[in-house]
Amino acid sequence: MAKTKKKQPSVLQTLTLPRRSVRLADHDSRATPGFSGDKAEGKASLDELGGELADLQERLYAQGRSGGKRSVLLVLQGMDTSGKGGVMRHVGGLFDPQGVHLKAFGPPSAEERRKGFLWRIRQQLPEPGRIGVFDRSHYEDVLVARVRGLSSAATIEKRYDAINTFEERLVGSGTIVVKAMLHISPDEQKERLLARLDDPTKYWKYNPGDLQERALWPEYQKAYEIALQRCNTKAAPWLVVPADRKWYRNWAIASILLETLRGMDLQWPPGDFDVDEQRRLLTESP
Ligand code: AMP
Ligand code: MG
Repeated sequence: MAKTKKKQPSVLQTLTLPRRSVRLADHDSRATPGFSGDKAEGKASLDELGGELADLQERLYAQGRSGGKRSVLLVLQGMDTSGKGGVMRHVGGLFDPQGVHLKAFGPPSAEERRKGFLWRIRQQLPEPGRIGVFDRSHYEDVLVARVRGLSSAATIEKRYDAINTFEERLVGSGTIVVKAMLHISPDEQKERLLARLDDPTKYWKYNPGDLQERALWPEYQKAYEIALQRCNTKAAPWLVVPADRKWYRNWAIASILLETLRGMDLQWPPGDFDVDEQRRLLTESP
């Protein structure tokens, strides 16, 4: 008899926030929920996920090319050095580049600000068949905007509902929205910033302004807690991914995407032509 494989608990479910109030301090940023192995095993496991991820992505892409409407949007949020870029490299690298749409959001231009905070987000939504990955997102407009007082309290207040409506419509139009907060500790951030200063090949990633953001750590955690709670909807729930261990973070995001794609029941699109006839025509052609 074949060895029965122990059923793995769903990483997606394990990391999805419950609908009650959020306390980030209760989430251990060094934990590895859903994975019992060590770093080497985590890296090996990530490699093993690659084949199936690539296969499912190709199916999604094929559907998009054949009139399918579905897509996936992965929203990555987190403090500086939490690994949003690292996820893009490690997990994005598992996919065929033509099926992935990566976008990092910096401070909006004056024109973008005039058009409303969701305008530039809409321009970057994944087309049918694509997997979109956002490094920062519309959530900055209730995070940095709140902490830095970039907009009035009344304006920010309205944005949570606007975000929920926007995401609900997006999901309704066929995009699965996966929102992941990469959760690191301030100690881990200090290590990572120091590592950047120790390595001239990483100076380009260092921004003296990050220290001012770091000084506002409690304010940012609070702003995150509010956003995670108010925008943790049925249509688009929030996940908190412990991110002090890079290998776990990468494995977790890959697992989340894999479970998401598996849940889409992605079949290869049938050809809209007569296969036998085409074979005959081709065989008889000179
Ligand atoms: P980085 O991700 O390190 O390249 O930094 C991007 C910067 O853009 C961060 O300091 C963000 O806070 C900032 N940013 C992104 N979106 C917004 C926004 N909507 N409003 C203000 N600042 C933003
Ligand atoms: Mg930065």
